[in-house]
Amino acid sequence: MNFSDLGLEPELLRAVADKGYDIPTPIQAKAIPAVLSGRDVLAGAQTGTGKTAGFVLPLLQKLGKAAGRAPRVLVLSPTRELTAQIAESAREYGRYKDLRTLVIFGGVSERPQIDGLRNGCDLLVATPGRLLDLVEQRYADLSQVQHLVLDEADRMLDMGFIPAIKRILKLLPQQRQNLMFSATYSDDIRALASRMLRDPVSVEVAARNTTAERVDQVAFRVTKEDKRHLLVHLFNTGATGEGSWHQALVFTRTKHGANRLAQQLEGAGIRAAAIHGNKSQAARVRALEDFKAGRVAALVATEVASRGLDIKELPQVVNYELPNVPEDYVHRIGRTARAGATGRAVSLVAPDEAGLLRDIERTMRQSVPVLPTPAFERRVSAGPPDRGPDRGSDRGVNRPNASPPNRGGSAPRPGGPGGRPGSQSRRFGPSRRSRSAS
Ligand code: AMP
Repeated sequence: MNFSDLGLEPELLRAVADKGYDIPTPIQAKAIPAVLSGRDVLAGAQTGTGKTAGFVLPLLQKLGKAAGRAPRVLVLSPTRELTAQIAESAREYGRYKDLRTLVIFGGVSERPQIDGLRNGCDLLVATPGRLLDLVEQRYADLSQVQHLVLDEADRMLDMGFIPAIKRILKLLPQQRQNLMFSATYSDDIRALASRMLRDPVSVEVAARNTTAERVDQVAFRVTKEDKRHLLVHLFNTGATGEGSWHQALVFTRTKHGANRLAQQLEGAGIRAAAIHGNKSQAARVRALEDFKAGRVAALVATEVASRGLDIKELPQVVNYELPNVPEDYVHRIGRTARAGATGRAVSLVAPDEAGLLRDIERTMRQSVPVLPTPAFERRVSAGPPDRGPDRGSDRGVNRPNASPPNRGGSAPRPGGPGGRPGSQSRRFGPSRRSRSAS
């Protein structure tokens, strides 16, 4: 099947060819004709399957030419990064069309967004909170919306956006096309879908809640306190014989934990940046750009980065801490192995996280092999002591007299000097346990 078989117009086929896409992905092959037909769509697709083009391409076609001031397509998405990414895709796919795309999200000045609304747009991509602010101030007019897209709809629910979404729905014309996209479908989201969608076409290209099949998933058992040492070891030598890591996206549970781990990695000679909700939008953009450009080897992120981020050729994702919600694991590891590439997801599982791993395995209906923990040295300094209420994973680990960091980033020397003063540098592992958790 080719893109031309899907009923797309020449301007869009040209833009798709510019992007270098040869054939539609399965979600695109199913969603594009469904959206073009004008029906509501309920789509489930694994992360990284090309779902953005699955709704953006047919909607650009339906929009035709620029018209009026108020947007006719509204795409709601949960995070600033994803919102910006969708808008960027819309501009690229629509480059040969006379259409205006506007992006609106919080954390940045309202001014350019207000100016954009005044100038008029055809397609508006927004996070719900800022959009409602601008509606209340009467800058945004949603009365002309003919097509609504809820992207990452389950995350919208998770993040407590539902009251905002309900308010937005009330501002839209009754007659409209609704498209709902998400990688995972909880019971809540199915209930929301049934209230919002009219006789939808169901487009599902993967079994419910299955994870990206191409991701090679492994886990290591390690104490909370030793996680940072093992992570540095993995960066230096690899997890499963693949050699030293050139880049990894590392997930922590808390913002404070993300900051601290980034500092600890820097101290160990690994260029690192943190990305989370407390960072300014400029800092988030910079961290992501540095990572995408390869200037940063470790991007340490909270859940904010688990959805939708598209980082080309990202070889590994590390779950430094397992998420409490199993679906978040699926989204996290979906950051690797995108668009046909392969990738690895490594989880560091502390004793008190064993139950979380079991929940994840149950949700995915797939087991994550637990490999023998490799030998590593305790050479990474603990960094600054804990302050404030938002504690990270290494709570209580504060070794003011720890050995100097391994600034060269060289491979650890098993059995060599390092570790805490007064204690012999110890080599840990390999663990005697190797089993497939079930
Ligand atoms: P998405 O799931 O929409 O975030 O897309 C994931 C990645 O797949 C992006 O880098 C897209 O540029 C890429 N992509 C989307 N459609 C195709 C296609 N038909 N062929 C190759 N790559 C694609």
